[in-house]
Amino acid sequence: MTKRPEMKPWIEAIHAYVPGKSRSASGRELIKLSANENPLGTSPAALAARAATPGPDRYPDPDSRALREEIAHLHGLDAARVVCGTGSDELLNLAVQAFAGPGDEVLYVRYGFSVYEIAARRCGTTPVIAPDLDYGTDIDALLGLVSDKTRVVFLANPNNPTGSFLPKGEIARLHAALPDDVLFVLDQAYAEYLAPEDDDGGLALAKVANNVLVTRTFSKIYGLAGERIGWGTGAPHIIDALNRIRGPFNVSLSGQAAGLAALRDQEFVKKSRAHNLAERARFVAALEALGNHGIRPLPSQANFVLILFEGALTAEAVHDALADRGYATRWLPGQGLPQALRITIGASDHMTEIAETIRTLAEQAG
Ligand code: PMP
Repeated sequence: MTKRPEMKPWIEAIHAYVPGKSRSASGRELIKLSANENPLGTSPAALAARAATPGPDRYPDPDSRALREEIAHLHGLDAARVVCGTGSDELLNLAVQAFAGPGDEVLYVRYGFSVYEIAARRCGTTPVIAPDLDYGTDIDALLGLVSDKTRVVFLANPNNPTGSFLPKGEIARLHAALPDDVLFVLDQAYAEYLAPEDDDGGLALAKVANNVLVTRTFSKIYGLAGERIGWGTGAPHIIDALNRIRGPFNVSLSGQAAGLAALRDQEFVKKSRAHNLAERARFVAALEALGNHGIRPLPSQANFVLILFEGALTAEAVHDALADRGYATRWLPGQGLPQALRITIGASDHMTEIAETIRTLAEQAG
């Protein structure tokens, strides 16, 4: 028997992240509504900036300085307290790595974003999962599980895959009840989809609190998922820790250029938000009319809707039927949600066809 390097047991316990698919079982390319990307594409200004990027023979700015300054300018932050990442995924992972280790606990809610478990396990920490409240976040349940081993608490707001949202007062209440030495990671990947008056106060909290890291991404409303750019902001010692361990050139040349131009094109962001708001409302209304078939769309503040199938028609059947009609959606049995389908808000005609298809299937199923 030859020897081989053995995975650490905590690495062996990890199930690799399962991304939203873009092909059917038979390999056919589908309209992808499975990864919460922007159906309007990317800002033309960002595409132009990306295309004009100088040759790839040179390293990018290791500190993403211009990009950080633009982020800080747009959000009224201190650029020294902003760190960019290879997607916000990198920052979520680094947050655990920097502040927790074997024997420590990382806390988040059931039906939270699946990267949190990977981020926790890869550092040998113990994931602790709080029960949900009808698929939403139960702050008291979360707080009830804080122990003296808790080092990091993750919360996505809006949350993926449920779309649920906690208003400012609830975020403040959660933060106020957390011990000062627990890092509160508030993942705002979908924050730009909120109406400005619905701001959850996270960025303001990150300015004054010693234990808050807010993360955002260019992958959703900015339509730059393929460039892999995220950012985070928090107290200087939090940003310092992340800067020590991040990849030295973690945002590509084209990513930095495209991200900067995308931030300067807030018209595109506005248009994307308005499209999402209108189409989500129309889609949810169409699904709510199917309540007598056991179909229940959960209230969403994000660019997707999680639909529960609690009657004769199953989520799996809808997922497969939509794939036959050319749509990739996200069925989530691996996340403990075999009864649910997550569908990204896409183009108007696509949402109309999907709602119609579900209605027909529901009527056939009885
Ligand atoms: N947080 C949440 C809640 C998400 O849904 C996603 C993307 N699926 C991310 C973070 C990570 O996004 P990215 O790494 O592309 O920035």
